Amino acid sequence: MKVPLLDLKPQNAALRNELDAAFLRVLDSGQFILGAEVTAFEEACAKIAGAKHAIGVSSGTDAILLILMTLGIGPGDEVICPSYTFFSTAGCIARVGAKPVFADSCEVCFNLDVEDAAAKITSRTKALLPVHLFGQAAEMDSVMALAAKHNLPVIEDAAQAFGAEYNGRRLGSIGTMGLFSFFPSKNLGGFGDAGLVVTNDDALAEKARLLRTHGAKPKYFHKMVGANFRIDPLQVALLGVKLPFLRQYSEKRAANAAYYTERLGALPGSTTSASQACEHKRRARNPETRIVLPGVHARRSHIWNQYTVRIPAYSGWQDAGSPRDALRECLAKRGIGSEIYYPRPLHRQECFLDAGKPQASLPACEQLAEEALSIPVYPELRREEQDYVVSAIGDFLKG
Ligand SMILES: *Cc1c(COP(=O)(O)O)cnc(C)c1O
Repeated sequence: MKVPLLDLKPQNAALRNELDAAFLRVLDSGQFILGAEVTAFEEACAKIAGAKHAIGVSSGTDAILLILMTLGIGPGDEVICPSYTFFSTAGCIARVGAKPVFADSCEVCFNLDVEDAAAKITSRTKALLPVHLFGQAAEMDSVMALAAKHNLPVIEDAAQAFGAEYNGRRLGSIGTMGLFSFFPSKNLGGFGDAGLVVTNDDALAEKARLLRTHGAKPKYFHKMVGANFRIDPLQVALLGVKLPFLRQYSEKRAANAAYYTERLGALPGSTTSASQACEHKRRARNPETRIVLPGVHARRSHIWNQYTVRIPAYSGWQDAGSPRDALRECLAKRGIGSEIYYPRPLHRQECFLDAGKPQASLPACEQLAEEALSIPVYPELRREEQDYVVSAIGDFLKG
């Protein structure tokens, strides 16, 4: 049996006729830049994100860049973000000439350690940029309280969490501005690169729209220097076909995650972080633990963009190298896809070293980079495929 980490084909095949029709509709319209298709998609997305404004853009990365430009963040400024995240969170901060200041993460929920973020605020801090990693919310009450105390805007990187909630509120619209990605591997996967910016602030939405098209208003009269950050009508027409199924996709992901947690939870040496509060993040390891399963935390919904387990290095592990890497190899041998999100935290990336000098240690991020492994959880995954994954992991843990 082969079980890839992600198979996009069944989801798209099920909607083939509708996708065909959407493609032909745009083809026949001759409208290939912005216009009614884009506006309709933005309105539908604004509802899902619980935001007043949604602005379709060229990618999740460009969404972050556009938000930073809209907030006027630039040289001399600092933005606090996690180190354990996809590169573009911090890459965009650097691209506007500001400095990404890395905070540690919570090893229970994978998200920003807000206490550590608080310790890193300086007079140069201009924004907080939490990430809702793997589809679960960061601890937004603490983030918003910290931001209010220092009068800072909050940028929510919800690239992996379209439609997820914190305390009954949709992610992306809790902070000042938020963003989503429609990269094919995200929970609303597009047909190429695309992204979305959301906000409840009228003035920021207007500025972001201007910057999306070279800061021009009217056309050819430039109030500010923007760029081309537009989403394509062709892209939104196709995405619009999938949008009504987003909830169903999320429910299937959640069912798959629950099934893993039940079956993997029955293996000896398995624990789940579900019952662990994030305050316990520095608590001592149980030496018996072989695999830590991801949990859903109180007040947060999880759309399971990834199902990420942790394989701690345990005593008695004889092999050279990490048991996580060994599990990954063992799964690959049986035709099971997995991925290390992310093998190196950003504060350890060459491009962010200060004159070759490593940044201060962020112990939880470093540990997560060594232990985390994401396994297939996509909506169309079948039970027998999950059983196959579970038995492969079971065999590994026994052996
Ligand atoms: C995917 C991702 C992005 C960037 O989105 P793209 O559409 O790939 O540019 C940003 N942040 C996080 C956390 C992501 O997972």
